[in-house]
Amino acid sequence: MAGIYLHIPFCRKACHYCNFHFSTSLRQRDDLLEALRKEIHMREEEGRHLQVETIYLGGGTPSVLKGPEVGDLIRRIADHYNVADGAEITLEANPDDLTAPYMVDLLAAGVNRLSIGIQSFREEDLVFMNRSHTGQQAKNCLVEAARAGFRSLSADLIYGVPGMKDDHLLENVALLSGAGVDHVSAYALTVEPRTALDHFVRTGKVSPPDEEQAARQFHLLKQALDATGFQQYEISNWALPGRCSRHNTAYWRGLPYLGFGPAAHSFDGERRSWNVAHNPRYITAIMAGTRDFEQEWLTPVQRHNEYLMTGLRTRWGVRPGDMDPPGREAFLAGVVKYVERGWVRQEEGSWILTDQGQFFADGIAADLFLEEG
Ligand code: SF4
Repeated sequence: MAGIYLHIPFCRKACHYCNFHFSTSLRQRDDLLEALRKEIHMREEEGRHLQVETIYLGGGTPSVLKGPEVGDLIRRIADHYNVADGAEITLEANPDDLTAPYMVDLLAAGVNRLSIGIQSFREEDLVFMNRSHTGQQAKNCLVEAARAGFRSLSADLIYGVPGMKDDHLLENVALLSGAGVDHVSAYALTVEPRTALDHFVRTGKVSPPDEEQAARQFHLLKQALDATGFQQYEISNWALPGRCSRHNTAYWRGLPYLGFGPAAHSFDGERRSWNVAHNPRYITAIMAGTRDFEQEWLTPVQRHNEYLMTGLRTRWGVRPGDMDPPGREAFLAGVVKYVERGWVRQEEGSWILTDQGQFFADGIAADLFLEEG
């Protein structure tokens, strides 16, 4: 099993909190598409032995592409790689792009799952975050997506936004669960370096997100989604039964993936590589028949630590039986204190974070890491 990721590095507007790789100038859009097509072809050899179960167009905002352009990219992947029947093909989209005719085009292009950047249905939150869409567009696109025939819809939400009341968050959840969404990804608003939000916080224009509000809203979100039949299968991800994102689950399980486009990462089970996060450099290199990238071979210690970092965030937890002897020993010795605190529980050979432990996931994983040497 493997996945293919395509990074589309363009956005119509820069959200104040975002530190992903994207450009708001669409000037190089056509050149970048040409380079992407070429990279798909160029790296065919790397994917020869892979059975591709998922294709994910992320960004940036892939919905800046026209339906036939999306179809062309998917077709080229199918021409050069072994794409399984029934592969999950996801496109990240913003509500303002999702018109009824566009969604018909996307279905015709082969997209069978939309991941929609809703974030909130309330105007004041959307303005605060500098999103490109309105609350009404967010509501409309869900109705239109279901009408167009999308059977698999994921929505992103953001909580912990300054001024966002608990009731507003619950309203957001209620609107999603009544609209045919089968998957929700929810993240606390965080201040990332070199973003507009970072600048506003530093200059006192806005107050930093309140950690207590974020923790409380995370808890409320869990309860509300649980009450509407969603299962939390990763700290930030919930799905109706059987509707987990196959693409993301494969990442968390350490399966190989190929990433095309600027800033895209690839992993073959031992080596991780990442393309340059710079559109002109990416295009120049690919069009010259080379690839501008960096890479690292993961040591056994790094692989163990990544397994802890990602595994502990999932509802399947980590299994000492899947660890090498030195890692297993260190893990079993280190995890005891977290079990005593009620932050980790054991279930059929797996060690899983409790609801309380989820608040400290990254800290627990880091504490259990093995050291090199
Ligand atoms: S649309 Fe997505 S990728 Fe683009 S700036 Fe906003 S959050 Fe970032």
